[in-house]
Amino acid sequence: MALRFFNTYSRELEEFEPRDPAARRIGIYTCGPTVYSRAHIGNFRAYIFEDLLQRHLELRGYKVHRVMNITDVDDKTIRGAREAKVPLAKFTAQFKEAFFEDVEILRIKRANEFPAATDHRYIDRMIQMIAMLISRGLAYQADDKSVYFRINEFPNYGKLAHFDLAQLQSTGRVKHDEYDKEHIGDFALWKAWDEEDGDVKWDSPWGPGRPGWHIECSAMATRLLGNQIDIHCGGVDNIFPHHEAEIAQSEGVTGKKFVRYWLHCAHLLVDGQKMAKSLGNFYSVPDILAKGYTGRELRYALMRVHYRVPLNFTWEGMNEARESLGRIDEWLERLQKMVGTPRRGVRSAQRADPAIQFEEALDDDLNISAALGFLFESIRETNRAMDENKLDAASASAWLDWWKRINTVLDLETEIEVVVPAEVAELAEERENARREKNWKRSDQLRDRISAFGWEVRDTKDGPKLTRHGAASSG
Ligand code: AMP
Ligand code: ZN
Repeated sequence: MALRFFNTYSRELEEFEPRDPAARRIGIYTCGPTVYSRAHIGNFRAYIFEDLLQRHLELRGYKVHRVMNITDVDDKTIRGAREAKVPLAKFTAQFKEAFFEDVEILRIKRANEFPAATDHRYIDRMIQMIAMLISRGLAYQADDKSVYFRINEFPNYGKLAHFDLAQLQSTGRVKHDEYDKEHIGDFALWKAWDEEDGDVKWDSPWGPGRPGWHIECSAMATRLLGNQIDIHCGGVDNIFPHHEAEIAQSEGVTGKKFVRYWLHCAHLLVDGQKMAKSLGNFYSVPDILAKGYTGRELRYALMRVHYRVPLNFTWEGMNEARESLGRIDEWLERLQKMVGTPRRGVRSAQRADPAIQFEEALDDDLNISAALGFLFESIRETNRAMDENKLDAASASAWLDWWKRINTVLDLETEIEVVVPAEVAELAEERENARREKNWKRSDQLRDRISAFGWEVRDTKDGPKLTRHGAASSG
């Protein structure tokens, strides 16, 4: 089955055709955290979905270059720094650090780049883009000295969120301090400095000020990934106005289609409401760990539901995650033991269907719930075969190899060391004695017996090392 994704822009499932199919290189941009407090696990639902996306594309042979920005200047970060009475950079540094700790705990693959909005390279790019938009009549400086995007001049405005400008006019959400704008939907590209900003300001052709949140992403995305991006992700709350604005700004500057596929994940909910800082109904990763759960369990709990389906966070869900992982662990342990047991069981006709179905489910708009369904079906079947003594070492080894492949996507394996069966360890010791006595014939015979158990012995400068056949050498 061809890879396909639900594109928010068209609201349709579309076959995935990257910009440069021959090179199989893909550029992905993901909106990262605003570092004014520790990210909550709702944010991490979005990042885990993006992690799954990247890993599945890599499983399918694509070379992914992913950029995740860090929003380290905006209204919230400035307010936080002011209240804490520390410089902005110092205030945001602690939350950046916390973010990377949580990324590690949740086994999220790090993006290739984590640009920060305040980096002068991107500030320069933002100023350059704004100047270009003004020169094209797509932006204007208002009486309050701020610069706004003129949405009436961008005919595609509203195409991503699927609404028209007239609708926007009727919402009537006019803030008092926005009277200078020509249209209620015009958004700030450059915010003129005011006292509340303290020393947070940059010089620009429009006077001192700071960038609007939306232009930050357009600048970082186009600077690091070029004028066209294959996939752009975020949570559904990013669709409007943030991503709509990103399209207007980027296409207004480059004249090229900015993004080929827009993917948005549904929210993590608590009692039917979005988990959000503003609602006070959130948990951080350390909150979950403090309740005795592991990062692996949280990863599974946040990953197991299709990304376009809202996911309700409950402790019961955490316990289910624990139980499911327990089943996987037990299964792997059984298979590993099986591999170390020669001449037992019958060679089973390998049931490849669930294995193939797992990967095909992910091809189908990352249908992880279906994929996991196939994994547990495989676990049930192989467990039954092992109960009935109908699975031989080679088949067990093949299942382990399959697991190793899909675990590059799931990253759910427990961090246990591979246990060498006692018989194998004894044979290895006997072989070492034979080698010391220079009894090479016996040493070779023992190597063969070890091999019959599915293990391989390698002589290294630190002594003999045992690895499972076909396993990546761990030295
Ligand atoms: P923010 O730090 O608010 O800019 O959000 C960072 C990312 O987390 C964005 O992609 C949001 O769409 C996403 N996000 C925020 N809250 C939730 C939630 N409750 N569930 C899923 N994603 C969320
Ligand atoms: Zn963004």
